Order: sequence, then structure tokens, then C-alpha cells
Amino acid sequence: MINSFLQLLYPKCCFACDQVLIRSETWLCTICRFELPKPGLFLEQPNWISHKLDGLIEYDRVHAYFLFAEGGKVQHILHQIKYKGQEKLGEYLGACVGRSFSLEDYDIILPMPLHPSRMKERGYNQAACIARGISHESGIPLSVAHLLRTKQVASLIGLNRAERYQTLEEVFEVIRPDELDGLRILLIDDTMTTGATFLAAGAKIKAASTGKLSFLALAALK
Ligand SMILES: [Zn+2]
Repeated sequence: MINSFLQLLYPKCCFACDQVLIRSETWLCTICRFELPKPGLFLEQPNWISHKLDGLIEYDRVHAYFLFAEGGKVQHILHQIKYKGQEKLGEYLGACVGRSFSLEDYDIILPMPLHPSRMKERGYNQAACIARGISHESGIPLSVAHLLRTKQVASLIGLNRAERYQTLEEVFEVIRPDELDGLRILLIDDTMTTGATFLAAGAKIKAASTGKLSFLALAALK
């Protein structure tokens, strides 16, 4: 009763389209849940996502849940997760990824780390929220201790892939890499634009351990 009253006063809205949610809906309305662009996690490779990485790093697979478009609903969702404190929305979408696709081929999930100063400023790591949802749903263990970001860099906006890679080349550090040896590693990020962040972090992991690397972005730009 009180909940219904509060819902009237402060209705919950869809995080993609802002329409008021009905009682059975959480986070996203039913229409957005079905109609948001999803390329499919297990595309035949090579494809438009793998083209961002092919020939530049040795890896197994690359996945993206949503297709990202400038100014679109997916960008709106990502903005809420990244800048508006919506950690639980990230976890929810991570759980959607874990539910929609069988990811049992992986042994460990590593979220793309934030630099400690960025972490302090934001209060949470959006990639870790998504990774938590995936881990919870799939049962694959999650580690935030093996991959760290030890250098802070200026914004990458406006830079091409080569410039981004050059900027990011020395910002990641792998801790206790021997523990990753032989594991099938799934590296998670919120958004994949040029692929430079995956390439830079992935190169560090490949240089330090014999783990097999795959990538998953909640959303990728075509
Ligand atoms: Zn909606």
C-alpha cells in the first residue's frame, strides 16, 4: 500500500526511454528490454567487433551485449551507470548478460580497473558493477585484485585508436600474474569504442601470464 502510494508520488522510470515503469518492470520497460539493439554475444568471427582487435593481440573471443550509438538509448543507459551513481543498474545489466548467454567457457572475470583517484571521486567502478552481475549470474569467479590501473591519464575523447593505445600503454599493471596462468580470462568493460583500452590492458595480461584472453563490453560502438 505504502509502496503503491510512493510509486504514484515518485514513479520509477525506464533508464533507457524515461517512460514510467509498470509494477512488474524493473530498470527497463518491456519494449526497451526487447528493442534495444543487441548484436548477439556469440557472433561468428571475424565481425565488426573483432575487426577492432584482429591482428593486434592474441585473443579467443570478443563479445558485446548492446550496440552503442551516439545520442541513443544505450548511450543514455551507459551514462547513468558511469556518471549518475547507478551501480545497481550496471549489476542488473551484467546479470542480463550472464542470463542471456552461457559463458561457462571462462574461469575468471576481470573488470577493467579505474585509477584509485578516479575511484575515490566516483565512489565505484562501473565495469566492476557489470562484472559483479555477470559473475553472480554465471557463477564465474570475479577478481578485482589481478589487474590494476596505476597511472591516471587525460580524457581520450578525440583521439584515434593508435593515439589512445599510446596513451594507455603503460597505465595497467598485472598483480600475481602466475595465478592467471592457464586460465580462460574474460576481461569486462562498460563501453568499447576503438578497442584501445582492451588492447592496452590485454597486452599487459598476455605479457605477464599464459592465460587465454577474451573480451566483453556491455556496449560497443559500430
Ligand atoms: Zn524504455
